[in-house]
Parts: sequence; structure tokens; C-alpha cells
Amino acid sequence: METEERTSQITTNASLLAVFAHPDDETFRCGGTLALLAQRGVRVQVLTATRGQAGSRGDPPLCAPEELPAVRENELRCACAALGIQPPILLDYQNGQLSEAVPERIVSEILAVVREVKPQMILTYGPDGVSGHPDHIAIGRFATEAFHRALDVIALHTIAVPYSLANELGMTQIHAVPDDAITLTVDISTVWEAKMAAIHCHQTQLRESPILRASPEKQRLFLGTEHFQTALFRPDLLVKSKQSNSQTLMGL
Ligand SMILES: [Zn+2]
Repeated sequence: METEERTSQITTNASLLAVFAHPDDETFRCGGTLALLAQRGVRVQVLTATRGQAGSRGDPPLCAPEELPAVRENELRCACAALGIQPPILLDYQNGQLSEAVPERIVSEILAVVREVKPQMILTYGPDGVSGHPDHIAIGRFATEAFHRALDVIALHTIAVPYSLANELGMTQIHAVPDDAITLTVDISTVWEAKMAAIHCHQTQLRESPILRASPEKQRLFLGTEHFQTALFRPDLLVKSKQSNSQTLMGL
């Protein structure tokens, strides 16, 4: 009886914090996984450090330059709703300048959210930033520092693209990783519609995404499977949490 109660408690308290730089980072390479976790009852919280002020306004422009931060915030809110996850939390940093943020300040801000959300897992970018965007690399570094300081978070996962996939799609601009460095591959086909709806929330960014002009087969290949690496984990907490190993994301 007691064991059962404790198990259900772990399930109902399960939460993941995804820490990213821009609106749309939560969708393209991990939106399906976030939607699947939410379907399983995991509280999925996205923390986005900027409002994507330096991004595209669309072609033709969908808003005035000064309106872009608010428009992209709304696009992010739309995407999180489409994925069935919590409304996002935003920080107030400038797109393109994240690497100049004062580390102590932004890490404290991330930790404040960690204390509120109490995640078992943090998801962010690895040192390659996937696209190599300096903001991605910077937010990954800050989120990793927050993981080091938040002693009760079990694991830090990073978004990755395997070489074989990047090669097959001719995506030379992507900073891919060796296939055997991937620790988790998630087939997101059961939440494909939710992911596509989230992508289409990001109206200002659609023209910037070459994959959306690719064939349906290539879109399925690139967007239908999501890949991750377990960057860091705390073995002692892993045992207590009853997860069988570090290379899963809450049962996925
Ligand atoms: Zn980004």
C-alpha cells in the first residue's frame, strides 16, 4: 500500500524543465517528445530566455519590428498550448546577445524556476547548439550550470541530431553528433499533428525553415523522430527515483 502510494506520487510529481533561447526552440527538435511527456502526466515547463527579437518577421512581414517580441511571445504561447504543455515562462534577454548575459544573474533566474517547477529532468542545448547559434550554446551553458547547482535534479538531457540523419538530408549546416552518442531516440508519430500545429503557431518563422519546403517524406524523417543525449546525471538520485537507467526521459 505504502509502496503504491509512493509510486503514484512520483508519477504525479514528475516534471521536466526545458530551457531554451528563442520561441520555436521548444518545437522543431523536441516538441513531439514534450507533447508525449505531457500526455503521460508529466508537467512540462518551457523557459525561454528571449522573445526572438532578432528573428524574421515573416516574408512578407507579419508585423512591425517593434511588435515582433510580443508576436513571438504569442507564437510561443500558441505552440505550448498546441503541444499540451504548461504556458511558457519568459526571461527578458535580447536575441543575439545571450552569450553576453551576466552568468550569475541568468543562472539565478533559471534556478528560481527550478525551485518552482521542481523538475527531475532539465532539457537544453549541448555545447554544439545544434544549429551552432551562439544563443543556443550560451543557454545550454547557463542551464548546465543551473543543473550543477540544483542538487535535486536527476538528469540533464540535450537535444542532438545524429550524423546519419543530417547526412541523409544533406543538412551540412547542422552540428550533428556521432550516432552512437545518441542516448535516446523518440518516435513522435502519435503526436505528429500536435507538433505540426505547434510549428504552424510560429508564423513569423515558417519561411526561415527549409525543412518545411522539403518533401513530406523528408519532413517525416527530420521531424518525426527526436534525438537526445544524456549529458549529466546523478546516479544516487536515479536509484531513488526508480528509473531503470539514465538513458530515458521519464519512461520514453
Ligand atoms: Zn533558436
